[in-house]
Amino acid sequence: MDFRPFELDLEEPFTTAQGTITSRDGFLIRVEHEGVIGVGEATPLPGWTESYEDCREALEAAESAASEGSGAALEAVEETAAARHGVSLAIADLYATRAARPLYQYLGDASRVARVPVNATVGDADPDSTAQAVRRAVDRGFRSCKLKVGSRSFDDDLERVQRARSAAGEEVELRVDANGAWTFDEAVRAIDELAEHDVSIVEQPLPGGALEGHAELRGRGVRIALDEGILEHGVDAICSAEAADVLVLKPMALGGLDVAREIVAWISELGIEPLVTTTIDGVVARTAAVHLAAAIPDVRPCGLATGDLLADDLGRDPVFIEKGAAVVPQAKGLGIDDIWGATE
Ligand SMILES: [Mg+2]
Repeated sequence: MDFRPFELDLEEPFTTAQGTITSRDGFLIRVEHEGVIGVGEATPLPGWTESYEDCREALEAAESAASEGSGAALEAVEETAAARHGVSLAIADLYATRAARPLYQYLGDASRVARVPVNATVGDADPDSTAQAVRRAVDRGFRSCKLKVGSRSFDDDLERVQRARSAAGEEVELRVDANGAWTFDEAVRAIDELAEHDVSIVEQPLPGGALEGHAELRGRGVRIALDEGILEHGVDAICSAEAADVLVLKPMALGGLDVAREIVAWISELGIEPLVTTTIDGVVARTAAVHLAAAIPDVRPCGLATGDLLADDLGRDPVFIEKGAAVVPQAKGLGIDDIWGATE
């Protein structure tokens, strides 16, 4: 196993709870066995994963341990989600490549999946611009739009939702993501209005720490999705508290595709719906997330159209976003051309 660092500039600065970032810094990982190569990506997002330094240290430990086998390499990254994502992905890519199957078939069953539906994300903007952005997304074929809310006044956001619904027509799914911006009373009021505009999902209406609150918000006509809440409490506590109808799964933050797959199996049995998204990653991790979504039967539109947020990338993107769907690569493994050689 070996790895090397990379830095990818973002199109626009991105604000997380830990501050504003202008680039995504991470590591490309390669494993090789009997001439077959697998690649993975570890792109830590502080707040969601370990720090960059901790990620690098964990990968160094995995590199040393790898001579004892892939189990030892994985053990070295057990506590660091992004590093584990990278190492486990490289191993999975290698196995899938050796089996001459696309990664999603290696993760799931053998049936062919051509496309996975994706949602458009509409950032914060005034009501006019919001309506225009929704219209553009619908014209490009998106059947699901997610509006970021919570950055401006409550009434402005409600007006944006109303305008978005008029622009989208009745058939397009609308969701909102409040990123934890609302109080409980605001959320109750918002959900009544959102239900009237046939918004299907509200993501993280209350801060990540709120479990009881989210449980109480369920059943009011709009399904409750948790994203930041998973980071705060873990999937186990959310399920016990019956705090979500939908969980937003970020493979990089969860420690890898295999971990995400286990969570999907487990929550599906409880009737909780999984959605897959990224932490604004390079092409290797984004493509991996597409394969994960393709391995989930009848997955609902996922947040996988995030490549545009990067100003540069690790290599050619094998995934086309077309008419509101990601076209799933059918080549063996991840389906990415020699990216290690290309970035050398
Ligand atoms: Mg979210």
